[in-house]
Amino acid sequence: EFALELSGIEKAYLKGEPGEVAVLRGAELALKPGEVVALVAPSGAGKSTLLHIAGLLDGADAGEIRLSGQDLTRANDAKRTEMRRREIGFVYQFHHLLPEFTALENIVLPQLANGTSERHARKRGTDLLARVGLSHRAAHRPAALSGGEQQRVAFCRAMANQPSVLLADEPTGNLDPATSDTVFAALMELVAETGLSALIATHNPDLAARMDRVLRLEEGKLIAG
Ligand code: ADP
Ligand code: ADP
Repeated sequence: EFALELSGIEKAYLKGEPGEVAVLRGAELALKPGEVVALVAPSGAGKSTLLHIAGLLDGADAGEIRLSGQDLTRANDAKRTEMRRREIGFVYQFHHLLPEFTALENIVLPQLANGTSERHARKRGTDLLARVGLSHRAAHRPAALSGGEQQRVAFCRAMANQPSVLLADEPTGNLDPATSDTVFAALMELVAETGLSALIATHNPDLAARMDRVLRLEEGKLIAG
């Protein structure tokens, strides 16, 4: 069984209109539990479109999607939202932390939204911050953190609800090369410890080479290598 399975995914924008753009044309993905896959694509190839479909934020025109053993191809919005909250963690190029809350609160809030008790949520948040070396920053707001620290907090938030799949869009793309390296290493450690599967879009060939395998998005399809 796969953690995430996409088959025959097709997606076009402005469908049926003169400016129609066919972005995905039969994309296939089978992410095994615990597997970390690099997604490499030139700008405009459809990387964000693919990540949004994989993360149940957007629907495909055709194709099938399975998450943690459940076929969600025809699931309604409520079901997709429930599965997204429970099974998917997102990380973006920019941290998107809530500025008025502390690092710890940013990790606690999504857990409360999912029905976790405050005591458990704080414990898990504290544990996650410790794993990325940020215990001393728990009470700081995002503005008081460096770019690398903000991104590490964003990783913790993405993992707060113990998802089975992590989807990341250029998670270190906004950092300088040295910071990018240490932050990426922290992400890989978290992923390995939690055993989740990850699809991580990156332009950085060195980072791609450190993942289990590489998929390139070309002409609407995912190709090994
Ligand atoms: P990437 O993330 O690889 O840069 P995207 O998935 O954002 O690519 O976009 C893929 C293609 O689809 C691009 O040509 C983009 O201009 C087009 N596109 C994306 N979103 C829309 C939209 N809402 N309407 C029309 N075209 C879009
Ligand atoms: P990095 O080299 O990791 O990007 P910085 O040089 O930006 O780190 O910051 C070094 C330290 O100073 C970090 O621990 C960070 O949390 C702290 N720091 C950065 N900006 C602020 C700020 N505006 N207020 C308080 N602390 C800050």
